[in-house]
Amino acid sequence: MRLSRAFLPTLKETPAEAQIASHRLMLRAGMVRQTSAGIYAWLPLGWRVLRKVEQIVREEQDAAGAQEVLMPTIQAADLWRQSGRYDAYGPEMLRLKDRHERDMLFGPTNEEMVTDIFRTYAKSYRDLPRNLYHIQWKFRDEIRPRFGVMRGREFLMKDAYSFDLDHAGATRSYRQMFTAYLRTFARMGLKAIPMQADTGPIGGNLSHEFIILAETGESQVYLHKDLLEFDVLSQPVDYDGDLSPVVDFWTSRYAATDEKHDEAAWDAIPEADRVSARGIEVGHIFYFGTKYSAPMGLQVSGPDGKMVNPEMGSYGIGVSRLVGAIIEANHDETGIRWPEAVAPFKLAVLNLKVGDAGTDALAARLYAAFDPDAVYDDRDERAGVKFADADLMGYPWQAIIGPRGAAAGKVELKRRATGERVELSVEDAIARVK
Ligand code: ATP
Ligand code: MG
Ligand code: MG
Ligand code: MG
Repeated sequence: MRLSRAFLPTLKETPAEAQIASHRLMLRAGMVRQTSAGIYAWLPLGWRVLRKVEQIVREEQDAAGAQEVLMPTIQAADLWRQSGRYDAYGPEMLRLKDRHERDMLFGPTNEEMVTDIFRTYAKSYRDLPRNLYHIQWKFRDEIRPRFGVMRGREFLMKDAYSFDLDHAGATRSYRQMFTAYLRTFARMGLKAIPMQADTGPIGGNLSHEFIILAETGESQVYLHKDLLEFDVLSQPVDYDGDLSPVVDFWTSRYAATDEKHDEAAWDAIPEADRVSARGIEVGHIFYFGTKYSAPMGLQVSGPDGKMVNPEMGSYGIGVSRLVGAIIEANHDETGIRWPEAVAPFKLAVLNLKVGDAGTDALAARLYAAFDPDAVYDDRDERAGVKFADADLMGYPWQAIIGPRGAAAGKVELKRRATGERVELSVEDAIARVK
């Protein structure tokens, strides 16, 4: 993208309403624009990051055997009356009426809807196990929307729903999602720790929250420090195999949120190994058995011909929250430092003298080598403005091209994460960034 033609509106001033770094930086870098309390428009830079995050989530769900669907945002209240949650959900649910006075709602989650879809088709145990997910906007009328996209009212969630014949099968599905979550967050450069969690209004009896540590996190968490060192991505995963070693490994050390905190277990950990910190919930998985299948009449015939209610679980990831969480974990005083996997563009080509035949030619070559994963700063602006914007927007690499270097065929390559700079020929610079 050429910056001279791009819609990448940066703000010079730090917006007063933004209390935490990620919110400030998202507004300053022109990633999002709040349109009502807790409701955001995603501008080009933010939208690109959101899609990259979404794609990693999708790839790992697919790898784990889940299948993507797309359910609507608007749901009929009648479905929620069948599960008993229509009255129970409370004021976080945005309730609507259509022109025929029918009660509708903007979905805060989709257990009822997916159970309804599945019960229409699933007839026998041969239709199990299945796991369906979608990546769709949710609405929760949060009492205190804040921290930008971290606690929005409208937000993008990946939610998956598993259906199994029995408890053993449901445990298998749970472990598949547990493992997929570890990989998903690690690919984004995040250390997300699974912690025993409360099941809340969704109900059930087995649940983990995936939490990244951050001072601005809204949850208080307690964990063994070993968990911060465990590696995820070096081990290949066989989703058809037994994943209990993965889950056992990650649950071999203490980790719990406030609601599940156990003082006795905590006291048994040597003091030097205890980490008590604030955390951001980026994902949450639940096993809840027949909580929806039973009241909603989802039944299949078992191998013995008897009818059974499938055992279910649900698995959420805060896709839009992750964009803020990744920035919380990757920034400095000058701006964002995107991990490459989710960067809006991998490279920024900064032409310091637009109109100079030498810099124009080198810049064009570098840009062409990475387009569409590069921005080309071809604006008629001072060098200082270009440096500041590139640092703010956080592209992992900057190729700085000035007239002196260009005359010698050289570009200066800067790595945003470390600030490291090297002077290289264009070919070497291309090879280095690729
Ligand atoms: P929280 O405790 O932060 O209110 P939750 O426990 O109510 O979240 P879940 O029902 O577990 O949320 O939803 C799954 C995921 O959706 C959460 O782990 C979180 O990442 C994300 N999420 C929930 N509420 C919001 C929100 N208001 N804005 C952005 N993301 C959200
Ligand atoms: Mg909530
Ligand atoms: Mg929560
Ligand atoms: Mg939760």
